[in-house]
Amino acid sequence: MEERLQNILLERFGRDIDSCTKEEIFAALLIITREETSNLPENEGKKKLYYISAEFLIGKLLSNNLINLGLYEEVEQTLARHGLKLCEIEEIEMEPSLGNGGLGRLAACFLDSIATLGLPGDGIGLNYHFGLFRQQFVNNKQKETKNPWITRDSWLMRKPVTFTVPFKNFSMQSVLYDIDVPGYGSGCNRLHLFDVDSVDESIVPEDSIDFDKYQIQKNLTLFLYPDDSDDAGRMLRIYQQYFMVSNGAQLILKECEEKGHDIHRLYDYVVIQINDTHPSMVIPELIRLLIQRGFSMDEAIEVVSKTCAYTNHTILAEALEKWPMAYLEQVVPHLLPIIRELDSRVRAKCKDETTYIIDEKKRVHMAHMDIHYGFSVNGVAALHTEILKNTELKNFYKLYPKKFNNKTNGITFRRWLLHCNRELTAYMESLIGSGFKTDARELEKLLDFQKEKRVLNQLADIKLQKKKEFREYLYETQNILVDEHSIFDVQVKRLHEYKRQQMNALYAIYKYLDIKKGNRPATPITLIFGAKAAPAYVIAKDIIHLILCLQQLIEHNPEVRPYFRVLMLENYNVSKAAKVIPAANISEQISLASKEASGTGNMKFMLNGAVTLGTEDGANVEIEELVGEENIYIFGKRPQDVIDLYEEEAYCSKDIYEEDELIHELVDFIIGDELKAIGDEENLKRLHKELISKDWFMTLLDTREYIKTKEKVYADYEDQLEWNRKALVNIAKAGFFSSDRTIEQYNQDIWHLS
Ligand SMILES: *Cc1c(COP(=O)(O)O)cnc(C)c1O
Repeated sequence: MEERLQNILLERFGRDIDSCTKEEIFAALLIITREETSNLPENEGKKKLYYISAEFLIGKLLSNNLINLGLYEEVEQTLARHGLKLCEIEEIEMEPSLGNGGLGRLAACFLDSIATLGLPGDGIGLNYHFGLFRQQFVNNKQKETKNPWITRDSWLMRKPVTFTVPFKNFSMQSVLYDIDVPGYGSGCNRLHLFDVDSVDESIVPEDSIDFDKYQIQKNLTLFLYPDDSDDAGRMLRIYQQYFMVSNGAQLILKECEEKGHDIHRLYDYVVIQINDTHPSMVIPELIRLLIQRGFSMDEAIEVVSKTCAYTNHTILAEALEKWPMAYLEQVVPHLLPIIRELDSRVRAKCKDETTYIIDEKKRVHMAHMDIHYGFSVNGVAALHTEILKNTELKNFYKLYPKKFNNKTNGITFRRWLLHCNRELTAYMESLIGSGFKTDARELEKLLDFQKEKRVLNQLADIKLQKKKEFREYLYETQNILVDEHSIFDVQVKRLHEYKRQQMNALYAIYKYLDIKKGNRPATPITLIFGAKAAPAYVIAKDIIHLILCLQQLIEHNPEVRPYFRVLMLENYNVSKAAKVIPAANISEQISLASKEASGTGNMKFMLNGAVTLGTEDGANVEIEELVGEENIYIFGKRPQDVIDLYEEEAYCSKDIYEEDELIHELVDFIIGDELKAIGDEENLKRLHKELISKDWFMTLLDTREYIKTKEKVYADYEDQLEWNRKALVNIAKAGFFSSDRTIEQYNQDIWHLS
């Protein structure tokens, strides 16, 4: 390794390792890693999976790829001999933000597990040059700027593959970039990211994310889901989605034809997993391409229906895509006859209007198309799948009971344990051997150590070590110095009202007032937030403003600050997740019951020994079943109660505000003098009004119980031995949430790849 590294550095930069910059060493390691990956065998089999997704939140790749290739230690030691740290070289890598949150991160974890299990399966997506946005805090508000990540030395490899994608008045020529996906001790798959050469980064100014939404040739692959608050933004999304699936479908057929497969039996050789509805147009597009190749409409529909499977990720109505026919007419008129045909076949066989693809307002329901013309529909956690079957997609379940199945989400333990918590990994290896690295269920062997003080204390030491590392990181990046002996209570995830960061903020207000009254917590508390809000999501941005104002208020209050602090991580992303999660004591998973499809953050925290404070929602339910109720804190209204409240339109936040003095006081604090002196009155007033007049996600309904439960959690933390036992049980039971398990189930029930 040493010699190889030296040779590359000498050849490329004319200097040896001791006089090279970190940038140069990163470039050399990238070359070595790419060479090693290209030497891996390709995962092969009769049938191949194509996982199509608008998002792949892959994060930085250097360390992960080195771990999967089995080279991490060797590289680490080589660098160490020259006084260099691999984790510092890691910082050089630019972070691709090709996803919003959980859905995109899931796709990335899946690619890792598919490759690790030796299954032939590639990802198909788009090569967004600026990804999502980079978040900055200015005047206690979120400011968005572009997030460039493509540098001369990157993981992208340009391929000699190009397709023509037809739009209404013009067509575009694609280019393909591949990123290799090495499995952990296994073969290699690929992530295919399509792009256009005509994309023009210069149409985006330096410090904003504004650009001309009409210049499709120049803007097509600039950003992930650009702002869709206007027509041009929505139209651009359709351009992106069609560009992605047309390229995907053409690539799939090309690969089949090159292998000499009979495309009349496409489903014997190919399975397409449609990740949420963004890639749904692959169904009519594939039908179109097969008809071009001489298929009848009947046969094309039959073949495609046996090839495509759909994953639902949400029950939030506003997130289920419905595109007006008029928009599709403007962008992809050639798909409309096919979509109309698909709709009329539904109408011919079933009377239930709620399942039609085209509704009376002439909108195309993408999920409906997927369910009728895919062979599998899966939810992403047990509770979520039940809600789909019994409530949200009830009418479809009646039509196709056999299509519905559950695949509880998972995370790759390579990134979320082996990489982000090397200390914990090493210690567990010393206790239970290394089997858990390939069979996560072996973590259960840790249960034997529940009563061993020595082990529990060692776990606490590792947690303290990770808290210290996070303290250093936060100091370097945001110039905030936290106390590693305080309780780290963490809520990091996208900002959305249903995730209820606003409830946690109300708690912060409660605690602030309570400490001012003289009630000091036994151990100081550091409440850590991290969240990006969609640029056009006004209330979400108001919630960020509230949290940042509370942070400023408390930072300047010498009475409260020693006992309780609030802080917000800037630009929360995958590498920040990998730093803050191992340092967390408490994992906040407080969504309104029934609204979080699964959550995967909850799994990452558990695996790293944090204890969950959460509602009966998503995969929290399954976490509770695994760890037992004494090792998790569950509070709040139950999913069915919430579903009934919506059904009966019976929730009124104003009533709670009027009747509950404490809640009244906390909510009014938002518009009180203390915050007014710091924040922007317009934002704070709007949020206040939202909470008492609408509160669509029922924050006030659960606030009281939340406060009570959180106080109990903090009190329980004082019994350190018992707390560490809880942490150990959480780690031991996390094996179920390995994405290797999830992918094995997808393969057994849906994909059938050898
Ligand atoms: C895991 C992850 C998420 C998903 O978090 P949830 O709490 O499940 O919403 C979002 N963003 C990043 C960067 C992640 O790593």
